[in-house]
Amino acid sequence: MENRSHIPTHLRKIYSKLRQIISQKRFIKGSLYYLRNTCGKKNCKCTKGEKHESLYIQQVKKNKARKSIIPKSKWDEIRQMNNRYKEILKLLEQVSDYEWEHIKDKK
Ligand SMILES: [Zn+2]
Repeated sequence: MENRSHIPTHLRKIYSKLRQIISQKRFIKGSLYYLRNTCGKKNCKCTKGEKHESLYIQQVKKNKARKSIIPKSKWDEIRQMNNRYKEILKLLEQVSDYEWEHIKDKK
C-alpha cells in the first residue's frame, strides 16, 4: 500500500514540516543575484562610485532562462519565498531518498 501509515517517525516529521510550509506560506523558484549599475543621470551619487543595486531573480522555464527585476520593497519577501522553495526541495529530496533506500524492502 502507498499510504503513509507505516513510515518512521523522522519521515513523518518531514511530511509534517512540508505540509506546514506549503499550506501556510508562499514560495518561488529561482536564483537571486545582484547587479550594481549607474543610471546615466549626470549628478547622481552613482557617478561618484555609489552605484545603484538591483536584485534579480532568474529561472529556467521550458529550457529557456527568464529573469525579472525585483522591486526594492519586495526584496525581503522574495528572498524569504526563495529560501522556502529551497527548503521544500530539500525536504522532498529527503523523502525521496528514504523511499529510494527502501525500494527493495519486502513491505
Ligand atoms: Zn544614479
